[in-house]
Amino acid sequence: MGSISLQNVSKNFGGVTVIPDISLEIEDGQFVVFVGPSGCGKSTLLRLIAGLEDVSGGVIQIDGQDMTRTAPAQRKLSMVFQSYALYPHMSVRGNIAFPLKMEGADKETIDKAVNNAASILNLTDYLDRKPRQLSGGQRQRVAIGRAIVRQPKAFLFDEPLSNLDAALRVNMRLEISELHKKLKTTMVYVTHDQVEAMTMADKIVVLNAGNIEQYGTPLELYTKPANRFVAGFIGSPR
Ligand code: ADP
Ligand code: MG
Repeated sequence: MGSISLQNVSKNFGGVTVIPDISLEIEDGQFVVFVGPSGCGKSTLLRLIAGLEDVSGGVIQIDGQDMTRTAPAQRKLSMVFQSYALYPHMSVRGNIAFPLKMEGADKETIDKAVNNAASILNLTDYLDRKPRQLSGGQRQRVAIGRAIVRQPKAFLFDEPLSNLDAALRVNMRLEISELHKKLKTTMVYVTHDQVEAMTMADKIVVLNAGNIEQYGTPLELYTKPANRFVAGFIGSPR
């Protein structure tokens, strides 16, 4: 359903190379974390996968199909941002329903999908509230609900928890991991937080200046870091 393949993907902004040449295979159903210092290209790589930026070179396949030049909507991926990007004047129900309304789904389909997402995310009692009447964690759950109703091939998260305080962050980490277990949908998750990466990932991509330093399981990165950068970043004993 949701495998993602990058082949020699590159990206320049106005002559400045941000991603020189990345090849990466993400298997269907995996939870893959992109981790690396600020400015290393995590968001850019995610936006290239989402289709929010065009690649300068290379090929992006989703589910074995060449999607390099397709618009975001055709890729059937759901992106969740740090800033939630909720509509303040709409209720929780309206926010979650929005993508389906845009697709022209009928009311019955929408109600069912919204109720299902709300139940998965413990938002059933909040459906009539406005975003400003919610906590940060609840707002992020609404943003995730809006991603779920589209039944995407994969979820793309860009530092979704960095606006939350430390305790809530730990909770939400667990919730997103639970969600992955439930849905079994591919998730690509960007963070600069090593602990988040090590605790949530099936596999981690360690990025540095637009290059992949290592791609492996948390255990592999910890026990066999490819180089000093990975060891230093992950905090493994090398
Ligand atoms: P990260 O998410 O890892 O912090 P980004 O992918 O946001 O890093 O940015 C990687 C590099 O690309 C940075 O040097 C940033 O300034 C540059 N960059 C990102 N988006 C643009 C853009 N639209 N125009 C010019 N430079 C950009
Ligand atoms: Mg970023």
